[in-house]
Amino acid sequence: MTDRSCIRGCGVRGEHYASCPAYGHETHEACDGCVPREARDGALVCHRCYGRLYRRLELVPDLLEHLRTMVHNVGRAKEYTHVPRAGRGGNGNAPASSDMLDASRDLLTSIGVTDTTASTTPEETRQAAVGHVGAILAGFDAIANDAEAFTTWWAVVMPVELPEYPEFWTVTRALARWPLEDRTRRAWHPCAECDLLTVLIHPPRHPGAPVWYICESCAFQRNDSDDDGLWTEVYEGASR
Ligand SMILES: [Zn+2]
Ligand SMILES: [Zn+2]
Ligand SMILES: [Zn+2]
Repeated sequence: MTDRSCIRGCGVRGEHYASCPAYGHETHEACDGCVPREARDGALVCHRCYGRLYRRLELVPDLLEHLRTMVHNVGRAKEYTHVPRAGRGGNGNAPASSDMLDASRDLLTSIGVTDTTASTTPEETRQAAVGHVGAILAGFDAIANDAEAFTTWWAVVMPVELPEYPEFWTVTRALARWPLEDRTRRAWHPCAECDLLTVLIHPPRHPGAPVWYICESCAFQRNDSDDDGLWTEVYEGASR
């Protein structure tokens, strides 16, 4: 076990120091929780921060394929549009597809793919992304144990907007605009931390990525290799 706390400053919800105005209250507007959340073994961040960044990176290949497919379909639709639209100020599709192209370019740049052109097919784009994201995820434990690396990845992936470059498409911004299909399913076993039946099973989006067990009510997040595979047994063993 480690007694380091999460470098992102996460607190345990509902747990307070005696000096906090929320101390002794069920909930309080001043504070959600000020006792620091413990870092994951071998990492500088808590389970929740680790899992959130990991899974968002894992979505990038699917997201890129989704964007490229939409761009491809917009292009095809235009081939069959012989009648120019008068008076509406041009083609209404153009802004949407140029956002998609900007977003795919920014996402590719984030994961280090620099040699893709606009003509690449959705499947080729996905394959390029799978290779790059796979390499990042393979080294993710080292990232999570390096304050500067984790902070940098978090800044490029997680916020909706980069303050210095508001036009940049972070992974979160692209997902909010073009959501992916939800593949989660409910686990019929209560959460190990809060005891509620609110754990969702997240299947992998990327070859070799783990299955995650994530509670919707508290900060509980574990994957299928944490604690020697205990959580797979707990959440998928008994109920089937
Ligand atoms: Zn507090
Ligand atoms: Zn955290
Ligand atoms: Zn919970």
